Amino acid sequence: MKDEKADGVAKSDIDQYRVKPGQKVALAGIDSRQKIPPGKKAIKERQQGLLQRLSDLQYLLFAEHRRRLLVVLQAMDTGGKDSTIRRVFGPINPQGVNVTGFKVPTADELAHDFLWRIHRRVPGAGDIGVFNRSHYEDVLVVRVHQIVPENVWRKRYRQIVDFERYLVQTGTVIRKFYLHISRDEQRKRLEARLQNPRKRWKMSRADLAERQYWDHYIAAYEEALVRTSTRWAPWYVVPADRKWVRDYIVASVLVSTLEDLDLQLPLAPKLDDITLN
Ligand code: AMP
Ligand code: MG
Repeated sequence: MKDEKADGVAKSDIDQYRVKPGQKVALAGIDSRQKIPPGKKAIKERQQGLLQRLSDLQYLLFAEHRRRLLVVLQAMDTGGKDSTIRRVFGPINPQGVNVTGFKVPTADELAHDFLWRIHRRVPGAGDIGVFNRSHYEDVLVVRVHQIVPENVWRKRYRQIVDFERYLVQTGTVIRKFYLHISRDEQRKRLEARLQNPRKRWKMSRADLAERQYWDHYIAAYEEALVRTSTRWAPWYVVPADRKWVRDYIVASVLVSTLEDLDLQLPLAPKLDDITLN
């Protein structure tokens, strides 16, 4: 195991991305094109070391088999959830990671409370669970399109906070990321998808129509962030117009989080009296 510290974003610097409990967030005022010094080339090199460190920490989490890490990814369409998963979690042992994408709820899911399908996908001991969309859709798309009345979705902020507190008290560590892209960046990415035959399949009429609701989504995100970023399950607003910045911040937060857990290999059993034949 490598024991030198990989240099991610310093702890004090990571904190600028964290939404402090009760802090109002104005997304328009947060620069989604932010760069990180000393620049792309150096950061991409550091990212290699950081991802190695993340892999090593995942091994310890798995070996310890006690705690769990839940990573929630939310973003506007084309915000980069899939590519973050590929680039940050790709190098990790697939046996220790499970990714769940939450789609439009099925009839069975709709027949239950909104957290039912979520709870079932919370990682088990030693695992990292990654949510590509999450229970937050139930205060985002559901709010924007008035799928349930306001008096129903409004109660969900509190229900989510209580649910996450319960998970944390029972051994799950939670980190939540909002990948923040600008409206202009979304237009560029949608245009690129439309022109790229390998990506065009990802597009639907609905995705293009959804862009009209940009301001509604921003308002819904801002309220979700302020109401549900807690000491125990913080949100990070990640500048995500530049992929290398986005990946580096997400990896830095995860490495720092796992380092704080002080993960230990289990005690090895005494086996010296056994002779292998
Ligand atoms: P994608 O991430 O492109 O596979 O799309 C998944 C779709 O499912 C998105 O349009 C989401 O808005 C939608 N979705 C996810 N969760 C919910 C939910 N709880 N209620 C309604 N739509 C949802
Ligand atoms: Mg889609």
